[in-house]
Amino acid sequence: MKPFFLAILVIGFVFTTSFNTTFTDVYICKGPYSKKYHYDKDCRGLSNCSTSIYKVTLSDAKQMGRTLCGHED
Ligand SMILES: [Zn+2]
Repeated sequence: MKPFFLAILVIGFVFTTSFNTTFTDVYICKGPYSKKYHYDKDCRGLSNCSTSIYKVTLSDAKQMGRTLCGHED
């Protein structure tokens, strides 16, 4: 049974890694000049956001053409 469980673990790890982008949450501002996404919702890049701060997945943020905030590289 042991190799079986090991295989499940390995498959689970590969799955998690390759789908990481889909399930990682990031924060965005929807103001007219916002083109970035943020891992930290308290980031200073979000402090002057004129709209609410929205939580989206990293893949959604990338589909919106967002790039990583310059304060968080
Ligand atoms: Zn930021």
